[in-house]
Amino acid sequence: MTKLTEILLGQIERSGPITIAEYMTQCLLHPKYGYYTTQRPIGAGGDFITSPEISQMYGEMLGLCLAQNWIDQGQPSRFTLAELGPGRGVLMADILRTTKAISGFHQAAEIILVEASPELQAVQAKTLDDYDVTWVNTVTALPEQPLFLVANEFFDCLPIRQYSRTEHGWQEHMIGAKNGALGFILAAQTPTSVFADAPLGTILELCPSAVAIISDIARIIGAFGGAALVIDYGDENPVGDSFQAVKHHTKADPLLNCGASDLTAHVNFKSLSDAASKFAQVSKVTAQGVFLERLGITPRAQSLAAGLDGDALENHITAHRRLTHPDEMGHLFKVLAISPKGAPQPMGFDI
Ligand code: SAH
Repeated sequence: MTKLTEILLGQIERSGPITIAEYMTQCLLHPKYGYYTTQRPIGAGGDFITSPEISQMYGEMLGLCLAQNWIDQGQPSRFTLAELGPGRGVLMADILRTTKAISGFHQAAEIILVEASPELQAVQAKTLDDYDVTWVNTVTALPEQPLFLVANEFFDCLPIRQYSRTEHGWQEHMIGAKNGALGFILAAQTPTSVFADAPLGTILELCPSAVAIISDIARIIGAFGGAALVIDYGDENPVGDSFQAVKHHTKADPLLNCGASDLTAHVNFKSLSDAASKFAQVSKVTAQGVFLERLGITPRAQSLAAGLDGDALENHITAHRRLTHPDEMGHLFKVLAISPKGAPQPMGFDI
């Protein structure tokens, strides 16, 4: 049993069951025993691999997409270039390398990373040591100026709340203690006005912090200009239980070994889109493979391939397939763009 499991069991025994959201927050971000505080999660030797870690082409496509939109919006002379949850900093490094040649872009950019983990901030500082970078803990600290932003696999680790439609109405899934171990239990019923009715057995997930964060971003973009690209696994309107743990690239029990494995849930793109559209224009939710193809990842892959052979070439071909193919990340991962109402949509999206 991990130290954090002991702490949470003790807390639950004293004060009663906690929501999945409270549990996720403790497991991921506990200052001493949290997952992002203590582990090195990302990469082949970690627990999961993300698109920017698979190939430099990913950051190149996103960087060019943002820079083109900056040009389309009249090249604002001061803007925030932000990333939410930058992991090891690889995506931002690729975006900056790719946009170096775009006249005026770097000079106008104020690079701000939104990162809750001090340990990962230190890793990002190393990766980005050629650049002037500032860190903030929350999006509410982003300046009131044009905002060009990426968020890759950030929204999936925000805390969710989960509800089941039972014969008593809607009941929240809580985490309690049973025989000295953590286990799921159902809370008393929630007021019926909270959700529309649904068949017995339906499970719904809500992510209040995702709605708050996307609203803050869309408000800034709507008022000052800019664009956001949000990429994650999820769907337009998912139902069902998507709460999961991953350790060493395989699924694990989310209630075991608190703080030692990554906890995520699928992103509800419809709720992000609905919240953002109050302030800004939102794109269609687009499959990652389609988006990357429209931005020209295949010609770029071919040009990089010309300089490779042997294992390096094989790995490069595999990476292109992983990012784009519908059986790999091409379909499961979705992209949503936010831009000011009336401004040109970022490239890669159908109007
Ligand atoms: N975007 C990176 C890493 C994804 S992992 C990549 O694609 O490789 C999730 C990242 O979000 C980590 O850097 C984690 O520390 C950060 N994070 C998680 N919850 C956060 C929160 N509430 N606020 C800010 N950062 C958070």
